[in-house]
Amino acid sequence: MIEIDIKFDNYTVMASSLLFTVLYILFSLCFVYPPKEFISAGLTVQSLLSTWLGSENERFIQYHMRRIVATILWHSVLPLGYVVGLYILDDSNHQAIFWQGGAVWQLFVFSAVVAPLVAAYLAWDWWRDHWKSHPVARTLAMFYNPDAGWISVASDINIEFRRVDKVCIETNPVVKIIATDNWIVKVAPYWLYVVHQSDAALILSSSDTHQVAPGSHREAQYLNIEVKSVRPGVKPFCIRLNAMDFRDFEDKVSCPITVLQNVTFHRTLLDRFLVAFQEQVAKNAVYVTTEELELCIGCMQTPANVKLQKYCDDLTVQGDSCTTCSCRPLWCLTCMGKWFASRQDQNHPETWMSSKATCPLCRSRFCMLDVSQVQPM
Ligand SMILES: [Zn+2]
Ligand SMILES: [Zn+2]
Ligand SMILES: [Zn+2]
Repeated sequence: MIEIDIKFDNYTVMASSLLFTVLYILFSLCFVYPPKEFISAGLTVQSLLSTWLGSENERFIQYHMRRIVATILWHSVLPLGYVVGLYILDDSNHQAIFWQGGAVWQLFVFSAVVAPLVAAYLAWDWWRDHWKSHPVARTLAMFYNPDAGWISVASDINIEFRRVDKVCIETNPVVKIIATDNWIVKVAPYWLYVVHQSDAALILSSSDTHQVAPGSHREAQYLNIEVKSVRPGVKPFCIRLNAMDFRDFEDKVSCPITVLQNVTFHRTLLDRFLVAFQEQVAKNAVYVTTEELELCIGCMQTPANVKLQKYCDDLTVQGDSCTTCSCRPLWCLTCMGKWFASRQDQNHPETWMSSKATCPLCRSRFCMLDVSQVQPM
């Protein structure tokens, strides 16, 4: 009877330990990479320690030096929190399960105890001597002449950060990119990357496209930019930007951004739409003609090369179905694409491909299937 009781007890303890483990991992992940709910509830290192950190706007560099220390300390305590939580939970059999773990578990407990100690030592080592040994201070000391010290560099960056015309792009909950008049800064959880624009080289090395939501037509393009400094000792870093934010960033940065040959990217929503529009038109029926083609009346630069003719089999909606346009080719593909886009609901780009527009001249309705490329005979 007693044996059964102990077994039953063990199962309950194991179940509750498992539940605790899952919840603790979830909680820790949310703390390390906070979702919106955590941020708005103030459950981030920044909000919890805001008094000690000071004002980011007033003393940007000092704020982030402290934030990095706080983040490292806080994250280093998370494994220990788990071990202590499990120990308290497992008190029924005098911590039987707790002490039964194998070598891996013992190593984990050991690391969980050591990690905060190491973090605390680092924090103390950086803090003494007025933060002079802090990695950020050491990086800043690489700029300007060595006698001026990191404080003068920090105050320069602080002053520029206070200006309203800086560009600040949050690329994810824990990383943001800041471009001021002379500096580019990347704020990361454990580090602050800094380069002076006068000695930086920026290379747009790759891009990748992702669907915003499964099954949707909306896509987001991300650009990876390598930032290197010719100044010795300054760490290179990588910036990952949404293509939509690229123009803001490019406008603020005075050094040229080299775009590698194999990278194509669309700076705006319109650019992205135009590519999709051109891809669709290339699949449509062509319009063969002997007429001489005049310059496009939209841009007056390229010869007109598209003709609207009804090819789709849409007859369904009365008054909304496509009709035949008898205008000559007057527009180039790009101008027609821009015209089409300008007629659409700007807040719902996902509907553009399946929507309609009217011919700029005769007002007959057309969809994307009714746009033909002109082929001179
Ligand atoms: Zn044109
Ligand atoms: Zn027409
Ligand atoms: Zn149509």
